[in-house]
Amino acid sequence: MKKTIDSVSLSGLRLRRTRLNPAIRNMLAEPFPPPEKFIWPVFVIGGRGQKIPIESMPGQFRFSIDELLKALSLVAESGIGGLMLFAVPDDSLKTPDGSYAWKENGLVQKAIREIRKEFPSLLVFTDVCLCEYTSHGHCGLLKDGCTVDNDSTLELLARTAVSHAEAGAHCVAPSAMMDGQVAAIRDSLDAESYTDTLLMSYSSKFASSMYGPFREAAASAPSHGDRKSYQADYRNPRTALLESILDEGEGADILMVKPAQMYLDIIAEVKRTTLLPVAAYNVSGEYSMIHASAQKGWGNLEDMARESLCSIRRAGADIILSYWASRYRSIFPS
Ligand SMILES: [Zn+2]
Repeated sequence: MKKTIDSVSLSGLRLRRTRLNPAIRNMLAEPFPPPEKFIWPVFVIGGRGQKIPIESMPGQFRFSIDELLKALSLVAESGIGGLMLFAVPDDSLKTPDGSYAWKENGLVQKAIREIRKEFPSLLVFTDVCLCEYTSHGHCGLLKDGCTVDNDSTLELLARTAVSHAEAGAHCVAPSAMMDGQVAAIRDSLDAESYTDTLLMSYSSKFASSMYGPFREAAASAPSHGDRKSYQADYRNPRTALLESILDEGEGADILMVKPAQMYLDIIAEVKRTTLLPVAAYNVSGEYSMIHASAQKGWGNLEDMARESLCSIRRAGADIILSYWASRYRSIFPS
């Protein structure tokens, strides 16, 4: 029987030759994601000298600004690209409209100024949402006391983003999933002459069960209901993709998929659909699952973390937001 070209070329192939020793494996492997691809999400609280462990996220803390600066001096040495700031204000500062979000001397605004001064090479990203600041814990203004009102929320998100740009943020990252938020924020930034401020949209953000530990960390669980009416449904990947396409049209500079680990297909799909950079947010639940498994003795912590981060990179993420960023060198020793 005449052999086809394919069967001839495959007949003598022994793939084990390509995996025989570390030198050949390393030569043929894709490189590990380098540190500059990583953004470390951090939680900032008021006061001084505060470094409070987050129980459900081992190795992560809520920091007062002075303690965050101390932690950053170690983390920055690893060469990570930047950090994403979340504020955890006192309950006494929370209001129905979340007005603390755009205070000139709010926690995030102060943290941006201090970090820029101390660590000029780190990129400062800020989360732009209202749920950390509203008394009801939803991401926008409520109408009728229960539904989030999309259009009146836009102006407040824009005001918050401008206050971050004013304080020196390199990139603002709206996460509220309000329709039109990217355009509203871009317009306000441009009108205030912050044309150089980047905008990274949490564009394909799913209503996920993987946010539990974050909500402990940021004390931002909604007091009633859930966020399913504004975050994407994981059973509906086409709409989630459309969210990213729309945000690109509205002027986002970087798109994002959140969560990452359970949405590798979406990362790959968004990457295929756009020429913009794609970020992926490796969320708290994904981080904590690996810790819990390691604590039980069911796997090695660093090995599991490394493999999970490589999968996110392999799916196509240009930027990885991950709590693992604070221990980059223990996961990817050089
Ligand atoms: Zn929110």
